[in-house]
Amino acid sequence: MSIVVQKYGGSSVADASRLKRVAERVMSTKRAGHDVVVVVSAMGDTTDDLLALAKQVSPNPDRRELDMLLTAGERIAMALLSMAIRELGGDAISFTGSQSGIITNDRHVDARIIEVRPFRVQDELARGRIVVVAGYQGVSYRREVTTLGRGGSDTTAVAMAAALGAEYCEICSDVDGVYTADPRTVPTARRIGTLAYEETQELAEAGAKVLNAQAVEFAKEKGIAIYARATTSALPGADPSADGTVVRQHPPRMPGTVVGVASEKEVLVIAASAAPGLPVLELLDAHKVAGKQLHLIDDALTLVVSRENLHEEGRVREALASRFGDAVRVVDALGAVSVVGTGINASFENLRRGAATLAAAGIVPRATATSSFRITWMLDRARLDDAVTVLHRVFIEEPKTPVP
Ligand code: ADP
Ligand code: ASP
Ligand code: MG
Repeated sequence: MSIVVQKYGGSSVADASRLKRVAERVMSTKRAGHDVVVVVSAMGDTTDDLLALAKQVSPNPDRRELDMLLTAGERIAMALLSMAIRELGGDAISFTGSQSGIITNDRHVDARIIEVRPFRVQDELARGRIVVVAGYQGVSYRREVTTLGRGGSDTTAVAMAAALGAEYCEICSDVDGVYTADPRTVPTARRIGTLAYEETQELAEAGAKVLNAQAVEFAKEKGIAIYARATTSALPGADPSADGTVVRQHPPRMPGTVVGVASEKEVLVIAASAAPGLPVLELLDAHKVAGKQLHLIDDALTLVVSRENLHEEGRVREALASRFGDAVRVVDALGAVSVVGTGINASFENLRRGAATLAAAGIVPRATATSSFRITWMLDRARLDDAVTVLHRVFIEEPKTPVP
């Protein structure tokens, strides 16, 4: 029997009635003749609520204790979903990340999966059971409980799919696939039927929340097909790209084709021009701060840091200030907008088109950076949504016209 891994995000299991609907969808997958593993996120805003609670107790919460706290969210959801499936006559059993064999490195709050030993999951599947796995969590070799970073239930699902040799991994959410931009920001955004791993990974890293970047990286490594779909959708039919997004190896598009626009609001820029760059990075490593875009030219450093998994910002700022004083600045006013597509920088035409578009909208970027898949502008956070809208219009909605 083929194995299917399905992941349901927080909004899909936000209350009892939604949990029951998910249980029904799981049951119909089982009835369609699959072995089913369900990965579940914490209900609704549970993770945010637990984080807020932690901050009330400790403004710079200890990373290990945060993991102990945050993993409770998925544990609640897994047990309730398993009960709901049982209520429908299914034979379900729930497991934590540790029980499912998700082994991670030692890093708390944003751990990486090193290997998956899914023996208990396989045993239960062999018994004909539906296995419900708590997403976003694992256990280190030292038997410490870890979490995989925000949005990490996607990673659990893909890693589980790879370890079990699943036919596909369905990521079910409140949106019916990956769009050309966040449909909440750009109502004219369109669903993209098929995406290559690289394009999807780049969109996710640039802030498209619908799929977690590390999950896509995993899928690419192991050749797992991801079906991004709505929780309310039917089960995938003969062509899952007709009502969702299929992410897999795809023949290349025309180089330079822009597939989407993504943005990230909550970023910090760390700029050190009067302090040597490497000691600044050493301090950030000591505080386990992960950087995104880095530029080190002579001694001048600029680094973009995502706030997503940064829960001890106050302590890090204090450490930077006490060691480097005014030589290091933390800029907390910018956001990042990116246009993504294979071969986007084969010439500078796309960059010039984007810059002209932003200028015409009265938006002045503070920085521009590129990779072979992406052009990113850093700009005033308050204008970020406007930037997404105008770039989407020019790169996705309108036919291309020559850039002067
Ligand atoms: P889940 O809780 O199911 O994991 P998330 O909130 O993590 O859901 O991701 C789904 C959300 O991602 C959508 O509600 C949508 O607003 C947002 N999103 C951002 N960028 C995109 C995009 N390019 N395509 C689709 N959704 C996107
Ligand atoms: N509950 C976790 C979060 O909110 C993990 C996830 O939803 O994927 O980030
Ligand atoms: Mg998510």
